[in-house]
Amino acid sequence: MNTHSDNKYLIACHQCDALFDKPELKQGQSAKCTRCGCTLAERKVDSIERSYNWSLAGILLLMPAILLPIMGVTLAGQYHHASLFDCILVLIDRGFFMIAVLVFLFAIAVPVVRLFGAFYLTYSFKFNKLKPSLLYFFRAFHHLDNWAMLNVFMLGIVVSMYKLIDDTEVSVNMGLLAFILLLISSTMAIAALDHDYIWQELEAEFAD
Ligand SMILES: [Zn+2]
Repeated sequence: MNTHSDNKYLIACHQCDALFDKPELKQGQSAKCTRCGCTLAERKVDSIERSYNWSLAGILLLMPAILLPIMGVTLAGQYHHASLFDCILVLIDRGFFMIAVLVFLFAIAVPVVRLFGAFYLTYSFKFNKLKPSLLYFFRAFHHLDNWAMLNVFMLGIVVSMYKLIDDTEVSVNMGLLAFILLLISSTMAIAALDHDYIWQELEAEFAD
């Protein structure tokens, strides 16, 4: 899975393991494996710019996504709005402590870290503020990719828990819309990021 091999001059196909000389790619170009045809490497167009814009949009959506009501519920005959934050408090209150922690981690903490991470990286590239610590930062950031889809899954759990606990009518609210947009922004910010390009630039600048 790791296209960032230890060898600076070779690249292995992740489908069939064929070895190739590392291609020099221009923006928008991609290299395909001659044996199985899968993509070896690609240079995305305007990767820094696009990732910067999406991460900025995501950061702006954070507060509304967490604090605006994600759904309306009727509790004991009374209508309530509940934000994502309220849902976590309710989960704690009802003794679903582990689920509350998981929801917090994957619906709030991980997206926040990814968005600010992508923002910090692309900001540093965009405004030419590269420093050696970015190499370590990006290495750590890279690992967060594995957790990407869990926040969608977690939101599903929140909504279904709420239904289970309260057996109420649930309606969709602005907070949920903000949250969905936030998920889209954070997914796009990461998808636009050209990992090969970032490695290449950082290594050229700082690797020993
Ligand atoms: Zn191949």
